[in-house]
Amino acid sequence: MNVFDVGIIGGGVIGQGIAYELSKAGLKTAVFESGEIGGKATSAAAGMLGAHSENEKRDIFFELCLESRNLYPSLAKELLEQSGVDIELVQEGMYRLAFTEEEGRFLQSLADEDELEWHSRENVLANEPHVSEDIAGALWLKHDGQVKGSSVCHAYAKGARKYGASIFEQCPVFDVIKEGKAYKLVTSQGVFICGKVVVSSGVWSGFFFEKLGLRNPMKPVKGECLAIKPKKLVINKTVFYEHCYIVPKKDGTVIIGATSYENDWDTHPTVKGVSELMIKVQKIMPEIGSEPVVSAWSSLRPQTADGWPYFAEHPEHEGIFFATGHYRNGILLAPITSLIVKDMILKTNQYERYVHSFSLNRLLSDAKGR
Ligand SMILES: Cc1cc2nc3c(=O)[nH]c(=O)nc-3n(C[C@H](O)[C@H](O)[C@H](O)COP(=O)(O)OP(=O)(O)OC[C@H]3O[C@@H](n4cnc5c(N)ncnc54)[C@H](O)[C@@H]3O)c2cc1C
Repeated sequence: MNVFDVGIIGGGVIGQGIAYELSKAGLKTAVFESGEIGGKATSAAAGMLGAHSENEKRDIFFELCLESRNLYPSLAKELLEQSGVDIELVQEGMYRLAFTEEEGRFLQSLADEDELEWHSRENVLANEPHVSEDIAGALWLKHDGQVKGSSVCHAYAKGARKYGASIFEQCPVFDVIKEGKAYKLVTSQGVFICGKVVVSSGVWSGFFFEKLGLRNPMKPVKGECLAIKPKKLVINKTVFYEHCYIVPKKDGTVIIGATSYENDWDTHPTVKGVSELMIKVQKIMPEIGSEPVVSAWSSLRPQTADGWPYFAEHPEHEGIFFATGHYRNGILLAPITSLIVKDMILKTNQYERYVHSFSLNRLLSDAKGR
């Protein structure tokens, strides 16, 4: 029977995380994915869990990021047990580099006792000998780790299946139609009746905002990365300067990212984008220039007007939820997003302050969002 408690539109890390938590809670859950699970932004991500690297303000968004990051160590164990998939959690911290004395003073002013520690130039070079000798020092973001984004998504998917979820790949959803108290999802594989619907289709969620009578808040931000497989260089920690990062993965590859082009729907890595990265990365680590490049790729970050995600029920269509707009932080935020959506659907009111802060009011306050 094509009848489910909850139908989730989009099988990226956000949709699969929600499917995992809902099916674990005993709901009959289905994910509808137009291509392959995790095939879009999720598999393009460098996988940084950058609560600090992504935030200087100490606001509710920072708290959301921090809480989600802190869920990862236990989630990694749970997902390994439930799915057999290692999400490749690395907890070496990250170095945010300073090249000038002024940058150094600024980073030193951010240092605190628990999370952020200033390291002198000598200390950084002792830990990461291939970093440029031109640095003034670095802030060590002790607990900002990293994972493999596509593995998080696949681990969630396998775990969800184990708890009884159905996952339909190559199954785009074309329409959402009210059917009594439930909704009909019209897909390429037929019609499914779902008591509740979650829209988690990344940047393509905009299509459903419009279908459901709201203004489309989603904007693509194209990002490109490249990977090298170093023969000589040993890199222990993620190192970044401005928007260029070097992320050493558990399997020995090193991801270099990422470009950022607003309103660009093209998903091919370009010569311009890749060369931009190559120039920036050699400033950070000059010797990296002689290491072999193994691949380059690109995808679309789902950005909203203020860069914050939405966790919200539709103001008029009860039972339709949006969990989207994770922009640069979808891997980091997948664990907390999944719990917040479960909380909204089961009405357990554990995450009210996040539901309040990341509601659709930001969209609706502007001419009712239409
Ligand atoms: C280059 C790059 C580097 C990044 N690095 C990081 C990082 O280091 N750390 C971090 O936390 N985040 C990072 N991000 C951001 C992160 O990848 C995204 O925020 C996250 O993947 C968003 O997940 P999602 O599930 O919302 O979207 P997606 O992964 O895009 O998934 C949405 C899914 O919905 C499907 N879909 C769309 N329309 C339909 C439809 N009509 N019917 C059914 N299915 C549909 C799509 O096929 C897609 O699979 C990076 C992103 C990029 C591009």
